[in-house]
Amino acid sequence: MAQQTITLIGGGLVGALLAQQLAQRGFAVEVYEKRPDPRLSGFPGRSSASCARGTRPSMDSGGRSINLALAERGLQALRTAGLADDVLQRAVMMRGRMVHDRDGNSSLQRYGVDDSEVIWSVSRGALNMLLLDAAEAAGVQFRFGQSLVSADFDAQRIRLADAAGVERELPAGMVIGADGAGSALRATMNAHSPLGERVESLGHGYKELEIPPAGELPAGVLQLSGGRDQYALEPHALHIWPRGGYMCIALPNTEGSFTVTLFLPAQGAAPSFATLPDAAAATAFFSEQFPDLLPLIPYFSEDFDGHPVGTLSTLYLQRWHLDGRALLIGDAAHAIVPFHGQGMNCGFEDTVVLANLLAAAPNDSAEVFAEFQRVRQPNANAIATMALENYVEMRDSVADPHYLAKRELGAL
Ligand code: FAD
Repeated sequence: MAQQTITLIGGGLVGALLAQQLAQRGFAVEVYEKRPDPRLSGFPGRSSASCARGTRPSMDSGGRSINLALAERGLQALRTAGLADDVLQRAVMMRGRMVHDRDGNSSLQRYGVDDSEVIWSVSRGALNMLLLDAAEAAGVQFRFGQSLVSADFDAQRIRLADAAGVERELPAGMVIGADGAGSALRATMNAHSPLGERVESLGHGYKELEIPPAGELPAGVLQLSGGRDQYALEPHALHIWPRGGYMCIALPNTEGSFTVTLFLPAQGAAPSFATLPDAAAATAFFSEQFPDLLPLIPYFSEDFDGHPVGTLSTLYLQRWHLDGRALLIGDAAHAIVPFHGQGMNCGFEDTVVLANLLAAAPNDSAEVFAEFQRVRQPNANAIATMALENYVEMRDSVADPHYLAKRELGAL
C-alpha cells in the first residue's frame, strides 16, 4: 500500500472526490479548504427569497450554479469510488431537452432511445457534502477555513490564511490544486515558472433564478406549464428556452423546485446584462421573450436584483504541473464554459485517472503528473471545444427546423 502524504488545496467537488479516491488507495491526504465546513455552516453565497422562506434544500456556492448535470463520465467515476448509488438517490433523472418556443409550445428531444441514456440533476451543495462525508470516512483530514496564499516549492512549504487573515506556514511535499477556476496554487506555480496560461472570456454572463415547487404557485399559472407531481414543469427534463443569441435553462431539484439560469451577452446592444440594469428592465424583457417562464418565477425581482451576474471563460494551460512537486486538477487546470454540462464530469474523470496513476507509481510523482497531463489534456481540450459549440446549439439550433429534421433522421 502506498503511504505518501499528499496535500490537497480545495475541498470542492473535484478535491473531495480526489481525496476519497487517494485515501482508498492508501495515501494519507490532508485537504485545505478556504470555506467553512458546509455541513456545519451551509453553503455561503446569496440570500434568495426561497432560502429566506426555508424551501431551498441546500444553498448555492457563491452565486454559481446550484444544481449540475451529472453525466455518464462523472457517474462512472462515482461508480469507481463506490458512491454512484448514494448520489443517484439524491438526483433527478433528465431524459432529454424540453425545448420551449416563443409561443409557449414545448417538445422533448430525448438523449437516447430509452432510460439507459439519460443525465441527472444533482444539487451542488448536497453532492459536495456527500463527497466530504465519503472522503472523511476513507480517512481524509479536512482543514476548513484555510485558504492557500502561496507556496514555496523549493522549500516545500505552503502559506495558508485563516478566516481572520492570520497566516501560517506548513511543510508540504506534494501539492495538488483542486482550488477551482481562480486557483491560488496555479497563480503561485505560474509565478515560479510560467504555465503558458490563456484565458478566453466568452463575453456572455449568467444569472440564476428559481421556479419554486408547484405548491407555491397559483393554480392558474400551472394550468399550461406541463408540470406534474410537486413540479411546475415536467420534472424529468432539462428545459431550454432558446432565443438565438441567448437562452434560459432550468434543471429540476429533488424537492420540486427548478434552478433557472439566464445566459446573455455581458455587454453590448440589447439584450445584454448591460441593458438590463435592474429587475424592472428584466421583467419587461422576460414578458416579451419568456412569457411562459416569467409567471413561474414569483420572486423574479428579488432573484434578479439579489443574484450576481457570473462570468464565463475557458482556461487553457500548456503545463498542468511543476515536475513532481505540484499539479492542477479539475477547474484549476481546465475550467470550461458550462454548456455541455461537463466541467464537474470531466474533473471527476480526472480523479480516477490520477489516483490510479499515483497508486501504480507512488514514488515517481514527476512521471505520474506528466502522464496525467498527457492522458487528460486532450480530453479536456476536446470538451472545452464541445462546450463552446454547444452554446450555439442550445440557444439556437435546437429550435431550428433543419436541426430537428436531422435529429428525426438520427443524424444528430
Ligand atoms: P470548484 O467547484 O470551484 O471548487 C474549488 C474549491 O476550492 C472550492 O471549495 C473553493 O472554496 C476552494 N478554494 C478556492 N480557492 C482556495 C484557496 N486559495 N485555498 C483553499 N481552497 C480554495 N459542470 C458539470 O459537470 N455539469 C453542469 O451541469 C455544470 N453546470 C455549470 C453551470 C455553471 C453556471 C457553472 C459556472 C459551472 C457549471 N459546471 C458544470 C462546472 C462545474 O461547476 C465545475 O467544473 C466544478 O465545480 C469544478 O469543480 P472543482 O472542484 O474543480 O472546482
